[in-house]
Formats: sequence, structure tokens, C-alpha cells
Amino acid sequence: MKLEDVLAAKGRRLVTVSAKSSVADAIRTMHAEKVGAVLVPDAEGCPVGIFTERDMVRLYADGDRDFDRLPVEARMTCSLVVGRLSMPVDEALGLMTERRFRHLPVVEDGKLLGLVSIGDLVKIKLEETAQEAQALRSYIAS
Ligand code: AMP
Repeated sequence: MKLEDVLAAKGRRLVTVSAKSSVADAIRTMHAEKVGAVLVPDAEGCPVGIFTERDMVRLYADGDRDFDRLPVEARMTCSLVVGRLSMPVDEALGLMTERRFRHLPVVEDGKLLGLVSIGDLVKIKLEETAQEAQALRSYIAS
């Protein structure tokens, strides 16, 4: 199973905000879209940064509370780790576990194609495991 299959199953919906958006706008977007991260692409649709719930927690703990004036670009993570369509799900899970983040943008030729979360990958793995268990049960029974 590859990230291409995960995107095919969940769709390529991308929740984005512009770099100049306020942190307050990013939070409202995450709440309205029911996601834990927003991506910040440039004008060409290339990934520039990511802002997640974890960044929000850090921001709040730092005491920076002027969310309406603070631009997202000031607090997003710019050194993005990305996956490709051909990346196996197990490799993506390993990468996210090792690097301690829960979101992986999928990029091909510099273009943002989608985003997978650790929840998307765990869901796919659970389905795969259930199918394997069923196949084994059928094999043993036959
Ligand atoms: P998360 O666990 O995804 O909420 O993110 C934890 C931290 O890692 C936050 O500071 C995010 O901005 C950052 N982060 C999340 N996803 C990525 C990624 N794919 N590449 C680099 N940093 C990331």
C-alpha cells in the first residue's frame, strides 16, 4: 500500500491558508474544516510551510496571544518533510513516528497533491490487517 492509495481512498482535499493570514484565521479554518493542520502553499501551489495544533499549543505556552495580528508565516514550520505518491505506507508511518509529527504533505515535482495524517495511515493499516486476518481464516477453514 502506497500514499497514492491513501489519497485515492481519502481524496486530495487540501486545507490551506496564505502565509500572510493571521493565526486566528488559521485556527478558524482548522476548526471549520475539522482538521489538525493547515498547509501554506506559495502562488504556484508549492509547499512552503505547515501550521498544526501543536504549533498552536507552543504559541499559547510562549504567551504570544495576539492571534489576530500575528501572521501564520511567523509561526509555521518551513523545513517541510514530504512524502511521494510511491512512498509505502509503512515507510511514511516510520518517518512520522521517528520525526514526531502527524502530518505528511504529498508532493510530486514540487507540487502539493495532498496531505496524509497519521490517523489516515493507521486507518488504512487496520483495514489491511482485518483483510489479512479474514483471508487467513478463510484459508484455514478451507
Ligand atoms: P504535528 O504532530 O503534525 O501536529 O506537528 C508537530 C510539529 O511538527 C509542529 O511544529 C508542526 O509544524 C511540525 N510538522 C508537522 N508536520 C510536518 C512535516 N511534514 N514536516 C515538517 N514539520 C512538520
